[in-house]
Amino acid sequence: MRPSSLDPLFVTITSFTGIGPKIAALIARALGRENAEETKAVDLLLLPPHRLIDRRNQPGVAHALERSLVTLNLHVDQHLPSPRGRSNVPYKILAHDETGEIALTFFHAKQNWLERALPVGEKVLVSGKVEWFNGRASMVHPDRMALAANPEDFPMIEPVYPLTAGLSPKLLQRAIDTALQSMPEFPEWLDLTFVKRQSMPDFAAAVRALHAPRDETDMEPNAPARRRLAYDELLAGQLSLALVRQKVRKLQGKPVRGNGKLRTQLLSILPFRLTDGQQNAVRDIIGDMESPDRMLRLLQGDVGSGKTAVALFAMAACAEVDGQSVLMAPTEILAQQHYATIEPMATATGVGVDLLTGRTKAKDRKAILERIASGKTKMIIGTHALFQDTVVYSDLLLAVVDEQHRFGVHQRLRLTAKGSAPHMLVMTATPIPRTLVLSAFGDMDVSRLTEKPSGRLPIKTATLELDRIDDVVERLRDAVSRGKKAYWICPLVEDSEVSDLMSAEQRHEHLGRVFGALAGLVHGRMNSAEKEAAMQDFKSGKTRVLVATTVIEVGVDVPDASIIVIEHAERFGLAQLHQLRGRVGRGDEASSCILLYKGPLSDVGKARLSIMRDSEDGFRIAEEDLKLRGEGELLGTRQSGTPGFRLVDLQAHGDLLETARDDARYILEMDGNLVTERGQALRMLLYVWRRDEAIRLLRAG
Ligand code: ADP
Ligand code: MG
Repeated sequence: MRPSSLDPLFVTITSFTGIGPKIAALIARALGRENAEETKAVDLLLLPPHRLIDRRNQPGVAHALERSLVTLNLHVDQHLPSPRGRSNVPYKILAHDETGEIALTFFHAKQNWLERALPVGEKVLVSGKVEWFNGRASMVHPDRMALAANPEDFPMIEPVYPLTAGLSPKLLQRAIDTALQSMPEFPEWLDLTFVKRQSMPDFAAAVRALHAPRDETDMEPNAPARRRLAYDELLAGQLSLALVRQKVRKLQGKPVRGNGKLRTQLLSILPFRLTDGQQNAVRDIIGDMESPDRMLRLLQGDVGSGKTAVALFAMAACAEVDGQSVLMAPTEILAQQHYATIEPMATATGVGVDLLTGRTKAKDRKAILERIASGKTKMIIGTHALFQDTVVYSDLLLAVVDEQHRFGVHQRLRLTAKGSAPHMLVMTATPIPRTLVLSAFGDMDVSRLTEKPSGRLPIKTATLELDRIDDVVERLRDAVSRGKKAYWICPLVEDSEVSDLMSAEQRHEHLGRVFGALAGLVHGRMNSAEKEAAMQDFKSGKTRVLVATTVIEVGVDVPDASIIVIEHAERFGLAQLHQLRGRVGRGDEASSCILLYKGPLSDVGKARLSIMRDSEDGFRIAEEDLKLRGEGELLGTRQSGTPGFRLVDLQAHGDLLETARDDARYILEMDGNLVTERGQALRMLLYVWRRDEAIRLLRAG
């Protein structure tokens, strides 16, 4: 149970005075919560202001620069209300200080309100932008006003929060103040020596300081208050990942110790030699599976690095001991592709293999489920249909999840925590930098495929302005006539599937005029049979130019496609461009990638495209991308900062992440159920950062 001392943090914002359902919904949106009910006081407390307004500049009327923000100490001389019935004439208030006079101007203002705010004869503080006209100063709608006698109503430094349309800063500020006022005290959940060494404030002080920045330096990610909260957030994340992992690990894996026979056979069947990277990865995986602990390993490898072959060897090792393994792909097409790769080899070595997806026909399905339940099938390839309750495995030893660049670690771990406890191999093509692996996957073992299979030629990448499209089509016509195959990728249009589709269909029509029936089309709105047919046609050569939306991004393998044109390349994230480009350069033929962009490009836009031109190294591209854009873009999300985090900015807090990881590990080693005094405090940390899920694991375990 949540300690009752934390209750004030978890009141719903609708219970605040002055916040009705409408405002609450807006606040919820500003906080990134699903709905108002889900939005609690603590969410407000942990919302960092993203900039501040500094009102300390007090030059005096005469020295105020045009359009600059100033604060004036004024004496109010006279009110000049709008004439009756002519509310479009502004209400003016004349005032002065020792340097000069100024007119404060208001449109559609209420007279009694202004008379209260700026009474004649009083000294007042007023802040806003000064405008000069014919030597006269005026200020239209000052954005802050207070009686000079009440300076506490006039913060010289004001935090500004990210807002959603319709939500006024004042309302949000009032809600935050309310939350601050009822904030309880907390026990220290961090290691005291660490806190001291880092000069970090305690949690409550950090929260208060977060909302009361004194200057720009307080806004920096490594200001003590922000750093403290970032560490808390990281620790909560690492701790909950570690708890999940501890739980998963407790379900002991079955050691898989095969005799290597199938693997040897496979080696002789494979049409290529494994790269050193592949061999190392296979060795890592076999080593993990032979030990009694469950394997939790991430296999990172750029597109085309040959992850599937690695998975196959792991699966073969399971078959050697008569156990089962599954390979789960994120899409139907990919599942089919994996099946097409693996089935012939498995069958040649006498291993039963099946494909199970959402599209498997009912009567086939029944037979397949029976074969899986009886243990006849050893390797099962499919989509998430593999984990439905109706699928009963006879002896599942290994789950391979080929998820390309989709995250969702908790979900995945829960998946396996539920049933038996297979070893777990996650394959990703995202060249996630180490810091992100750690924050998204926690303390997972990692194997990397850093080299491409040999014999690959580099992909030549060119950038061209979109208005040269006719030249590109001309060159493409030439290439296709020489027997080449090309992808033509159409841009994402404003997140709308419909307009995506339109752009692809229009381009298909356009290219159809040049290439006739050789131009194919595949897009996200097609059902998977249609998609598969389109891919098949392209694979077989029936079509030679495949117009596609980004549906082909994930893993599709057509080794003899050697050209890719990406339209509106400036709209794609670098990681995505890299993934797309990886569709070519898979065969033994020289390949090219043409990035068509719409100018003029921003400096960052130029830098991004030139990275693509200069490098084929996914890790380097990812690192550069991080530098240019921050992590949000890398993961395909639009938010700034690091996705999924409120305070953490991994570029600034990378050092803290490592510490948090070690801290979490140490904590659980000493106090696996969080029952000591510090353990109890850490439970609070988990609640504060909304990691209740992990606490449930604790209770259950
Ligand atoms: P990804 O890592 O993107 O999933 P795949 O497993 O689809 O890559 O492999 C890409 C292509 O490279 C496939 O056509 C595969 O047959 C081929 N391949 C894999 N390993 C090797 C190797 N060691 N030598 C040559 N080709 C290989
Ligand atoms: Mg793949």
